[in-house]
Amino acid sequence: MALIVKKFGGSSVATTEKIMNVAKRILNEKNEDDKIVVVVSAMGDTTDELITLAKGIAKEPYLYTREMDMLLSTGEQVSIALLAMAFKTLGHDAISLTGPQVGMRTNNVHTKGKIMGIEPKRVFDELEKGKIVVVAGFQGANDLGDITTLGRGGSDTSAVALAGALKADVCEIFTDVDGVYTTDPRVVKGALKMQEVTYLEMLELARLGAGVMQPRAVEMGKYYNIPIHVRSTFTTDTGTIIREEYTMEDKNHAITGVAHDCDVAKIAILGVPNTPGVAHSIFSALAADNVAVDMIVQSIRTAETNITDMVFTVSLDDLAQAKKTADAVAQKIHAAGVTYAENVAKVSIVGAGMLGSPGIAAKMFGSLAEAGINIEIISTSEISISCLVEGTKVKEAVQIIHKNFFGQ
Ligand code: ASP
Ligand code: MG
Repeated sequence: MALIVKKFGGSSVATTEKIMNVAKRILNEKNEDDKIVVVVSAMGDTTDELITLAKGIAKEPYLYTREMDMLLSTGEQVSIALLAMAFKTLGHDAISLTGPQVGMRTNNVHTKGKIMGIEPKRVFDELEKGKIVVVAGFQGANDLGDITTLGRGGSDTSAVALAGALKADVCEIFTDVDGVYTTDPRVVKGALKMQEVTYLEMLELARLGAGVMQPRAVEMGKYYNIPIHVRSTFTTDTGTIIREEYTMEDKNHAITGVAHDCDVAKIAILGVPNTPGVAHSIFSALAADNVAVDMIVQSIRTAETNITDMVFTVSLDDLAQAKKTADAVAQKIHAAGVTYAENVAKVSIVGAGMLGSPGIAAKMFGSLAEAGINIEIISTSEISISCLVEGTKVKEAVQIIHKNFFGQ
């Protein structure tokens, strides 16, 4: 017997025909004594349509976050009712339950709720009665019993958290890709599907620009130590399993994956006096203005002049504010000037244990050199190395790095 949580996103349940297909597939794959919980999103673009509806009433509907939650949570309720009916018409008993009914407790932040705890007694009771339990993703309730939502795309998080609370054997996330790849398959045709990847590496890949799984859902998986199986809605092939440790002894490759991120801008504060407290002045001003800084380098021009340049990156969204803040600070600390560039991008490699293997960094830098791509900034973490390169070259950078590490 296995207890399995399966999550199907909006595109997998976009029509009644698709809902029937989901139900048939689940029944086909189910072993007699398996206990199945299915978490679903709203049908197709329903959530967007509900937001449009609200805009017909209020110009800024997100000013009324409690009412938005009341509205948006209805999308998932349509899917659970229809899917539960689908199971019944196919001859298997099922029951639909909302987020509040499965004991999904959140904080009081409407439209961006955080899960505070889950008391899934009702789910266990219904499973015990032999029913397939169909749960509305994306929603919970605060202490007042008011319905809350978890932020756009939140039903992955609902599914993994519920799997954790139920101590399920696995949480399967069905999507339109068939797993996690060593890099974006749109950039590298020969990208390889991973059989497994650790939570930490998956989170790092997501942080550095890979867009497969919601980081919050992966964090939930890590917290509850629930394996997450990312697989295709359209095939029965095994996808990629995200878990704490690798189960296979031999990893074939020195790194796990290559990610890239074009949402980057570079700012340089030039001719900064090299004295104590200068870095603090710059970065505390940015923090006060809520600008998140990513890569940072301080370079000394010559030992004699005692003048440095401070170069850092921010996301494109933050660029306008970052420029304003940097200009003001530059004046205050008597820097020579500020320059910025939007045509930059970050290419990164991720893999546990790379810190202890200097050959890996050398191979990455060598790959970029081979392609004649200049590295502007390098930053490292325990499990990743990132290089800032010219924006127009980033795909070529991904391709050559991937080829040198993965052979294609
Ligand atoms: N229906 C919600 C959304 O579109 C939640 C989800 O799909 O995960 O954001
Ligand atoms: Mg959706």
